Amino acid sequence: MVRAIVGANWGDEGKGKITDMLAKESDIIVRYQGGSNAGHTIINNYGKFALHLLPSGVFYNHTTSIIGNGVALNIPFLVKEVGDLVSKGVPRPQVLVSDRAQILMPYHILFDQYEEERLGKQSFGSTKSGIAPFYSDKYAKIGFQVSELFDEEALKEKVVRVCETKNILLEHLYHKPLISPDELLATLLEYREMVEPFVCDVSKYLHDAIKEGKSILLEGQLGSLKDTDHGIYPMVTSSSTLAAYGAIGAGIPPYEIKNITTVVKAYSSAVGAGAFVSEIFGEEADELRIRGGDGGEFGATTGRPRRMGWFDAVASRYGCRIQGATEVALTVLDVLGYLDELPVCIGYEIDGEITKDFPTTSKLNKAKPVYTTLPGWKCEIRGITKYEELPENCRKYIEFIEKELETPITMVSNGPGRDEIIYRK
Ligand code: GDP
Repeated sequence: MVRAIVGANWGDEGKGKITDMLAKESDIIVRYQGGSNAGHTIINNYGKFALHLLPSGVFYNHTTSIIGNGVALNIPFLVKEVGDLVSKGVPRPQVLVSDRAQILMPYHILFDQYEEERLGKQSFGSTKSGIAPFYSDKYAKIGFQVSELFDEEALKEKVVRVCETKNILLEHLYHKPLISPDELLATLLEYREMVEPFVCDVSKYLHDAIKEGKSILLEGQLGSLKDTDHGIYPMVTSSSTLAAYGAIGAGIPPYEIKNITTVVKAYSSAVGAGAFVSEIFGEEADELRIRGGDGGEFGATTGRPRRMGWFDAVASRYGCRIQGATEVALTVLDVLGYLDELPVCIGYEIDGEITKDFPTTSKLNKAKPVYTTLPGWKCEIRGITKYEELPENCRKYIEFIEKELETPITMVSNGPGRDEIIYRK
C-alpha cells in the first residue's frame, strides 16, 4: 500500500513528525521532490533532529529510506546527513538513491545566491539552497543525472558545454568568478565515489515492493500553496509539492497511491514572500511565534522567524482539495490553549465580494480576511490521548475545521513527540 504524507498549507505543518510516527508501521519511506531547502523537525528517543534531505523514516531499523528521482540531490549534504545521524547514535540507515535523480551542483547554490542578490527587494526569499537553478537546469536538459556519473567520457564533454553557458551568466550578468570544466569534472568524480554505495534502480525496487505488498510512505516537502502550478505563483517552490507528483518523483503508477494523508496546521505559518491573507503582526504574532511548534516558529533551515497567522479555512480547504486529501492530520493544536478566543478566516473579501474559493495570485493579493471567532479552551491539552477527553471548546474547534476542510480529521497532534497523537475514528 502506498500512502502519501503531504502538507495542505505553506509547509512546516509537522509532516516530519507524522511521517516519523507512521514509519513505525512502514517498510519504505520515499522523498520524491524538493531538496535540502526545507527542514523537518523530529523529536524521538534519539534526540531532536532537523532532517533536510533524508526522509523522516530513517530512525527505525526496519525501514528503507529512498531519495527518489524527483529530488534535488545534494550529494555531500546527503553523506553528511547520514554521518550526523550515526554520530548521534542512530543505527546506520539503509538509504537508496535513484539512478535517475539529478545532482544539485555547487553552482546551483551560487546562482541562487547571486540571483537573490541581483533581485534585491524583489527577491523570492529563497533559502538559497540552489533549488530554483537546479530545476531550471533539469528541465532545460543541462542537469546531471546520477547515472551519468558512471559514463566518464560523456561526462567530460558535458562539463565543457555546461560551463560555457554558466560562464556567460557568471561573467556578464552576475560579475562573479567563472567555473572551470576540469574542476567541475573533478567534483563530479568525487560525487560518484560518495553516492555509489546508495545508487539503485528505485522505480524497479518500488515496483517489486508494491508487488510484495510492502507498506510505502511518500513524504512530501513544503505544502500545497508552494506548489509550482497550484500554489501562489511565483512565490512558490520549483518542484511540485503535491501527492500526485509522488507517482512521478518516485517512479510508481499514480493509482497505487491509495491514501493521501494531508497535514494541516491548527494555525498558519509561512516562510518567504507572498500573499498570506490571515497573517497577523506585532505582539499578537510574536506571542504565537514564540509559543508555536516546538520551541518557537523559526525556520529549520535558515532560523528565520516564520510569518504567523490565524487558521485559514479558504487556503486549507483548497490545499486539501488540490492534494486529493483522503484524511487530515491536524497538528500543533496544543499551542493554541492560551487564547481566549480563536479567529478563523472563513472567507476572502476581494473587490467587495466575499468568496470561499482560493483565487489565483493577482486576486489573492487583494484579498482581505473574513473572520469568525470560536471560544478558546484555556488549558493544556498535551498528554491527552483520547478524543473525548479534549475540552469541549477544543473539540468544537476541530469539528469546525473538519467541516470547513470537507475532509475527515483522523489524527490530532497535541505535541511534538512521536506518541503525542490522538486518533479519531
Ligand atoms: P514539516 O516541515 O512539515 O515536517 O514541519 P516542521 O518540522 O518544519 O515544523 C513543525 C514543528 O512543529 C517542529 O518543530 C515540530 O517538532 C513541531 N510539531 C509537530 N507537531 C506538533 C504538535 O502537535 N505540537 C507542537 N507543539 N509541536 C509540533
